[in-house]
Amino acid sequence: MTKAFSADQWDERETWSRDRLAAFQTEALRRQLAYVEANSAWYRARFEVAGFRAADFRGPADLARLPLTTKQDHLAALEAAPPWGTALACAPSAVRRVHFSSGTTSRPTPDAWTAADLARWADLYARAAYSQGAREGDVFQCLFSYPWFVGGLGATAAFERIGCAVIPGGSGDTERQIETLFAYGTTAIMATPSFAAHLAEVAQRMGRDLRKSKVRHIGVGGEPGAGVPATRARLEDLWGAKVYDCYGSLEFQPIAWDCAAQAGGHLMEDFAFAEVIDPETGAAVPDGTPGMLVLTHLDKQAFPLVRWATGDVVVRDSRPCACGRTHARLPGGVLGRADDMIVIRGVNLFPTAVEDVVRAMPGLADEYRIILDDSVRDPATGFPTGIHLQVEAVGEAPPDIGHRLADTIRTKLLVRAIVEVLPPMTLERFTHKAKRLVKR
Ligand SMILES: [Zn+2]
Repeated sequence: MTKAFSADQWDERETWSRDRLAAFQTEALRRQLAYVEANSAWYRARFEVAGFRAADFRGPADLARLPLTTKQDHLAALEAAPPWGTALACAPSAVRRVHFSSGTTSRPTPDAWTAADLARWADLYARAAYSQGAREGDVFQCLFSYPWFVGGLGATAAFERIGCAVIPGGSGDTERQIETLFAYGTTAIMATPSFAAHLAEVAQRMGRDLRKSKVRHIGVGGEPGAGVPATRARLEDLWGAKVYDCYGSLEFQPIAWDCAAQAGGHLMEDFAFAEVIDPETGAAVPDGTPGMLVLTHLDKQAFPLVRWATGDVVVRDSRPCACGRTHARLPGGVLGRADDMIVIRGVNLFPTAVEDVVRAMPGLADEYRIILDDSVRDPATGFPTGIHLQVEAVGEAPPDIGHRLADTIRTKLLVRAIVEVLPPMTLERFTHKAKRLVKR
C-alpha cells in the first residue's frame, strides 16, 4: 500500500530542519534509554556500572558517558543465557522475526524484531527505495539471500509496501534469474555487488545483454560496492541501470541508503543516533574526517542497542543534499572495516581502495584477492610490507598489465604490490558476501 508524503518524499521527516531533527533525537533518546533501562537487564547493569540513570539524561552529549557495545559484548550477553541472552528487551513471546549474522568472524548471532520493529523496518526500507525512484508498478526481483540473512525479507516488505510486484529470487539459480528478469520485465533488483557482477558475467556467456532488459534500478548491499566509484561505474555499464548503495547491518536495518542524487547514503537519523569516533581514542571526529560509526537505536523494542560499535569506517557530511533531504550522508559509503584496515609501513589501506584501482583498469575482470602472506611480510617483525594481489585478465589483456597495475597501486595508494595475473574465471565467485582479504 502506497504511503508517499509527496511525489518525491515518503515521509515528512526526511526534510525536517536540522534543529527539528536534533530536538526529535533528544526526545527519542530520552524515551528509548528509559525503555532500555527498564527492560534490558544487561543494559541496566551496564548503566549502573557507568553511574548513568536514564532519568538524568539531558542530551546526546551524555551518551559519551556510556561504554561502547561491541560484538564481543553482545556475544557474551547471549552466551550468558542462551538463546536470547540477557539483552532481549521484550518478552520472548513478542518476538515476530529472527535473523542471524553470517558468522564470518564468530558463531552466528541472532537479532530479533517485534511486530512494531518489523513495521518500522519495512517503512524505512520503503522510504529509502522510494528516494531512489522505486514506484508503484515496478517489478522488483529480490536477489538477496533469504535464509537466515536480513536483507531479503526486508527488501521484499519495502517494495510490497511501495506497491511493486515482488519476485523473491534469492541469491542462487543465476541462469533462471536472468531468464526471469527478461520474461517478467523486472525493473528493479537488489543484490550484493558481487552477485550483480556475477549475473552480468553469466548473462554474457548466455548471449543475453542485460542492458536490453528493463532493469533500471539496482540496490546493492551486504558488502561495500556502490560506494567504490569504479565498482559503481562498472556495474552501471554492465546493466545499463543506476546503482544505489544500501548500507545496513543485522543490528541496524537500514543504516544509510543512497538517494537518487547518489551523493552518499542518507543516515536514517530519526531511527538511529549516529556518532563518528576515532576508533583508537574514542573521541568524536568532525564531519569530513574518517572514523568508526557508532549507532544508538532511537526506536527499537526487541534488541535495542546503545552505542553499538559498527566497526565500519565512514566519513559523515551533514550539509544539505541536492535531493532536498536533510539527514546527513556518508559519501563513499563504508570505507572499510576498522579490523580489515591493513597498515603497511604507516599507510592505512582498505580492500575497497584496491578494488577501485583494479576495476578502473581495462583488461582486468572484477574479481580480485588481497593476500597477506610471507611473500609480503617482514620476516623479522611479521608486519606486512606490501600486498600480494591476485587479479584475472579478460580478453586481450596487454602482457604488461600486472606491472601497470602494481605501478598504479604504488602511485595512488603508496603501497607496494606483488601482482599475479591469473587466467579468466580462476578465482572463486561470490553470490552472497565476498571475502577478498585473505591472511595466511
Ligand atoms: Zn539526497
